[in-house]
Amino acid sequence: MPAWICVTCGVQQRDTPQPPDGCAICADERQYVGWGGQRWITASGLAEDHAVVVREEEPDLLGIGLEPSFAIGQRALLVRTARGNVLWDCVSLLDDSAVERITELGGISAICMSHPHFYAANVDFADAFDARILIPRADRQWVQRPSPRIELFDDEAEPVPGLTLARIGGHFDGAAVLHWPAGSQGRGALLTGDTIMVVQDRGWVSFMWSYPNLIPLDEATVLDIARRTERFSFDRVYGGWWGRVVVADGAAAVRRSADRYVARLHGQRGP
Ligand SMILES: [Zn+2]
Repeated sequence: MPAWICVTCGVQQRDTPQPPDGCAICADERQYVGWGGQRWITASGLAEDHAVVVREEEPDLLGIGLEPSFAIGQRALLVRTARGNVLWDCVSLLDDSAVERITELGGISAICMSHPHFYAANVDFADAFDARILIPRADRQWVQRPSPRIELFDDEAEPVPGLTLARIGGHFDGAAVLHWPAGSQGRGALLTGDTIMVVQDRGWVSFMWSYPNLIPLDEATVLDIARRTERFSFDRVYGGWWGRVVVADGAAAVRRSADRYVARLHGQRGP
C-alpha cells in the first residue's frame, strides 16, 4: 500500500489503499489546502519527475533537497558525527541514489524535525537506515504516519551523543531546534527549520505562528523562544531552505531580532 503524500505540504500519511479524506496539516490555519483542492501523490509517482540532491553546506553538514522543488520546498540537513549521523528535518522522497550517497556518508542514526510541516517522508528514511525518530510529545497529534520507530521527548533529547534537540515552541508547541556544537569550525551551529526563520536579510531571523498566512506570535512567546536559545553557543543559524543561513554571530542575530519584533508589537519603529 502506498503512504500517500499531500502535494501541498509534502507530508506522508499512513499506508492505505486509497488516499485519506483530507490532510490535517493543510486543514490547520497555519497551512492551506491547495487552490485546486486536496491532491495526493505516491513516492513512485513523485520519483518520476523529481530527484533527491545532496550538497555540502560546510564540512560534516549536508543539505538534502528535491529537484525540482516540491510542496513547500524545504531542504533537510544531515549532521555527521563520530558517534552517528542525525537527519534534521526531512523531504518527501528518498530515492536509490540518495540511499547510496547517505550510506557512503555513514547512514542515519536518528531523525528529528523542527516541526510537523517538515515530517515529510521521515518514516521512509528511518526504515531505510534503521533510525530512531524523535518527536516532541507536544506535537504527537500531528504525526500523520505512525511508526514503531517514533520515540517521544519532552523538552530536550540527545539524538546522538553531543547533539542537543530542544523544544522551544512558537510556530508549534513542539517546535524544536538542533544544537551542533562542532558546527561553524567549532563556534557552534543552530539548526532551526522555521522554528526560527532566517529571513532574506540574513543578519536577521523571525518568528511566526503561520508563514504562508502571515499570522504573528505574541510578545511572551517570542521572548520565550529567544530565552530558550540562550543556553546554546552558536555562530551560524541554518534555516529550513537552501541559502537561508545566518553565517556569523547567530546568537546575537536571534536576540536582536526578538527585540525588534517585540518593539514593533509596541508600536516602535526602527531608524
Ligand atoms: Zn497537506
